[in-house]
Amino acid sequence: MLVLTGISSLVTNDLTLERGKLGVVTNAALVVGDDNKIAFAGEAANLPREFKSNAIDINGRALIPGFVDSHTHLVFGGDRAEEFEARMAGKPYSAGGIRTTVAATRNSNDDVLVANARRLANEALHTGTTTLETKSGYGLSVVDETRSLQVANAITSETTFLGAHVVPAESQINDYVDLICGEMLENCAPHAKWIDVFCDRGAFEVDHARAILKAGANAGLGLRIHANQLQHGGGVQLGVELGVASCDHCTHLDSADISALADTKGKTVATLLPTAELCTRSKFPDARRLIDAGVTVALASDCNPGSSYTTSMPLAISLAVLNMNMTCDEAVWSATAGGAAALRRTDIGNLAVGSQGDFTILNSRSHIHLAYRPGVKLVDAVFVRGQLVAGSLR
Ligand SMILES: [Zn+2]
Repeated sequence: MLVLTGISSLVTNDLTLERGKLGVVTNAALVVGDDNKIAFAGEAANLPREFKSNAIDINGRALIPGFVDSHTHLVFGGDRAEEFEARMAGKPYSAGGIRTTVAATRNSNDDVLVANARRLANEALHTGTTTLETKSGYGLSVVDETRSLQVANAITSETTFLGAHVVPAESQINDYVDLICGEMLENCAPHAKWIDVFCDRGAFEVDHARAILKAGANAGLGLRIHANQLQHGGGVQLGVELGVASCDHCTHLDSADISALADTKGKTVATLLPTAELCTRSKFPDARRLIDAGVTVALASDCNPGSSYTTSMPLAISLAVLNMNMTCDEAVWSATAGGAAALRRTDIGNLAVGSQGDFTILNSRSHIHLAYRPGVKLVDAVFVRGQLVAGSLR
């Protein structure tokens, strides 16, 4: 049992409120029961007497649900610092740079891949991320995609098969799509919860993406799609057609795409990845237009060695507010409950009674500081299932 009082501002993301509302309680208390689930979240004045004796006072700091980073690529070898340097010196970003990481990943043994993925997951944890999704996609062969997913399973249960990241240099596209839908899927599906396709310029076109996602659904996997990042195309419409949990990137959308997403009534989330735009000096997605149209929006890091080598959800929140016209409340909701919605989960991303005891104590009196103080380390303590796993209560 863990009892915390002295919470200046408690973000509950109360699921009974409309999406995007934080359900903030001031002068609050939080209790995690012995089952590691939230037993009480509300005004300290209403804290039941039986919880009062062992309470720990956190001295007027804010407490928020742990971040749910619903889109990362943490299984890879090497890095691409030189490519980054060249791009910053004026060379444009294209999806082909992925092949550099494919070569490095194929040349790394499992221990090296696990150590790298763990290092990044731990880095994410220290900035308040308590759940993350991660993908294969740098193996692009039956053997290397399968072992990439085995590595992914060492750090999270939210694992995604992304054999359809790009076509590997040694393959023809039609042969490779057949391989993904056949032998590769057969080997990878037992280790994955989701399947994803990069449907964009330089990657997979809509008809191939449809065939791959349908094969994944037949193999029992949930669906996600990388869509409309580099240019406008049919990726988002395909995602809606297939009822995917999340269309990710959504940088280049027209009004038909936005209405299609809105018409799903939150079944298909638009996951925005502002650090990818930041790190490629690209145009940011129009979050305001999506939210005003009624689309459910998540924020995620897209952590990968090419286009967004950061695990920081606070940075994504800052960018969403400062560059994408989201309000502070919307950005924090999208980084917590929004990410959970993109993973079709209600047991995380909120602090309702019965939810998992995953949360973060900030070194500030409110969640607003996450956007207001960009680049500053504001995470004092991180709890997963009611246990302190990073930082300290001091
Ligand atoms: Zn991605």
